[in-house]
Amino acid sequence: MKSLWSQEEASRFGTDLDLRVYSSRLLGHDPSLVLHGGGNTSVKIRETNVLGEEQDILYVKGSGWDLATIEAPGFTPIRMDHLLELVRLESLTDLQMVNELKTQQTIASAPTGSVEAILHAVLPFKYVDHTHADAVVTITNTADGEARIRRIYGEDILVIPYVMPGFDLARLVAERFAAEATERTLGLVLMSHGIFSFGATAQESYLRMIELVDRAERYLADHGAWDLSVPPAFEEAGDLGLELAQLRRAVSEAAGCPMLLASDRSAEAMAFCRRDDLEVISQQGPATPDHVIRTKRLPMLGRDLDAYVSGYRAYFEEQASNARSPVQMLDPAPRVILDPQLGLVTCGKNATEACINTDIYRHTMQIIQRADRLGGWRALSAADIFEVEYWELEQAKLRKGGQPPMFSGEAALVTGAASGIGKACVASLLARGAAVIGLDLNPAVNNLHLRADYLGLACDVTDTRALRQALELGLRRFGGLDMLILDAGVFPGGKRIAELDDGLWRRVMAVNLDANLALLRLCHPLLELAPKQGRVVVIGSKNVPAPGPGAAAYSASKAALNQLARVAALEWGGEGIRINSLHPDAVFDTGLWTQEVLEARAAHYGMGVQQYKTKNLLKTEVSSRDVAELAAEMCGPLFARTTGAQVPVDGGNERVV
Ligand code: ZN
Repeated sequence: MKSLWSQEEASRFGTDLDLRVYSSRLLGHDPSLVLHGGGNTSVKIRETNVLGEEQDILYVKGSGWDLATIEAPGFTPIRMDHLLELVRLESLTDLQMVNELKTQQTIASAPTGSVEAILHAVLPFKYVDHTHADAVVTITNTADGEARIRRIYGEDILVIPYVMPGFDLARLVAERFAAEATERTLGLVLMSHGIFSFGATAQESYLRMIELVDRAERYLADHGAWDLSVPPAFEEAGDLGLELAQLRRAVSEAAGCPMLLASDRSAEAMAFCRRDDLEVISQQGPATPDHVIRTKRLPMLGRDLDAYVSGYRAYFEEQASNARSPVQMLDPAPRVILDPQLGLVTCGKNATEACINTDIYRHTMQIIQRADRLGGWRALSAADIFEVEYWELEQAKLRKGGQPPMFSGEAALVTGAASGIGKACVASLLARGAAVIGLDLNPAVNNLHLRADYLGLACDVTDTRALRQALELGLRRFGGLDMLILDAGVFPGGKRIAELDDGLWRRVMAVNLDANLALLRLCHPLLELAPKQGRVVVIGSKNVPAPGPGAAAYSASKAALNQLARVAALEWGGEGIRINSLHPDAVFDTGLWTQEVLEARAAHYGMGVQQYKTKNLLKTEVSSRDVAELAAEMCGPLFARTTGAQVPVDGGNERVV
């Protein structure tokens, strides 16, 4: 553990709060200290209010902010004197506590302060830092963890036994600190939870955190529990996409909504999933209690969903009977699956959730294995974990609900995704919550979007092997396929039949027709497994109902594709798979149409460019986005009872109407 503090950088942050932002980000950037929204920090500042009164304000991390990217507005200002009064109460429920935090903040629009706000307030230091450092959690989660922690830190820290985060923990810390803290106290270790450091300046508090965590890491190294041997290479099992899609179907049924699955087959993950003692070490609980909200208490081993679901119900029923207030059961589907072939498989209601679970479990695997070497991994009891999983505040969020996006938990594949209508389809699907695999010959497709729910793959759709590979990669990333948008196509320049050569004809047929047949065939078993039934949208052309001279190859290929789609609607209707076509015309914001070509075509008709662009019944322009929005809606509930349809998107064409 090394300090990332840079005096030069820090000097650019002027105020106490700005420095709080700077050192919080340093902590947030190290995933071995905090992961995805974990941890929290604070600074105490004396301010003058509008009445001219001086008051001490605690600026504490607000909910919804991540330390890695936090900014000044991410810290909620709360009146210190009130927080210090609260801690003298005998008890306070979490909902009451949140109400107090909310009503005592001095900026009404600030987020709700961290549930650890009162704990931050009672520590009498200007800066307070809190992380769930892997090394500390590793040591505290062993059978003799407390004795080890005392040996490592001596009088430098106070050891706080595990108590659920919130009011009770704040109260316990206040008592212990008053009774036991000395001049030498640099921080607190919270058993099975994490670590606090504090200091007079941002730098002092940060450096103490680094130093304390570094001592834990060195201790692990000195006890042969740091370096995990590089696992041996394992045999690749070939394509696993279909098996993943089958598993995803079962997980989605258990969850009651579509879920995405991500498969990590790294050597580390495979070695862990194939450990002989997996049933023992993986079935104890998470590394730190707040992971349970995302990962559930236990991973599923193998693929027996029924056994997992009944195990979860039994755990819920047993624990719920002891709960302080009535609780509503969460969905019983796993969020982490350990399978000897599929590797570490994580599940989420969207791609970001699945990704976060992968990150969390990658750290958990290391923590478990190091604790195991140190003398035996031991997580918190099921009762303690249940308390966090079914926490009053989380249950309140559940009751509030809110509608998930239209394609939440679903995945789509779009061909021709780097430009024009295909690119617009990617955007329309992402905007509706789908994860998207974009294929295109143009490698620009790879970096079209840099986000967890997009995977761009450069791929020649006429190469069936390349298609199969791309699909396999897509399935390892998202776990299945619900929607297919067939957009890739070529439009060769005008050539009359008399001059049309066989090579050109075949190339047009290969891209516009054969590739789509191959994709439909490859995707059919996946679409059959889609939790909300498969959907296909074919981007056809006005040339299907109304061909033009000089476009024989294009028109014939699109007409054949249209017929192929109609047959697919007939053959797949019984499986609930819907396939509909769009026939756009005169979409000029695509790569095909440069200003030059537009001017030439307009001149050909004796028109100006604008007149040419709107030469349809409605005198309107048709953009890629217009087509894409309709394509996305065709995959949604509006078209749930429609298959085999052909819808023009052309502003109205005399020859089609
Ligand atoms: Zn914590």
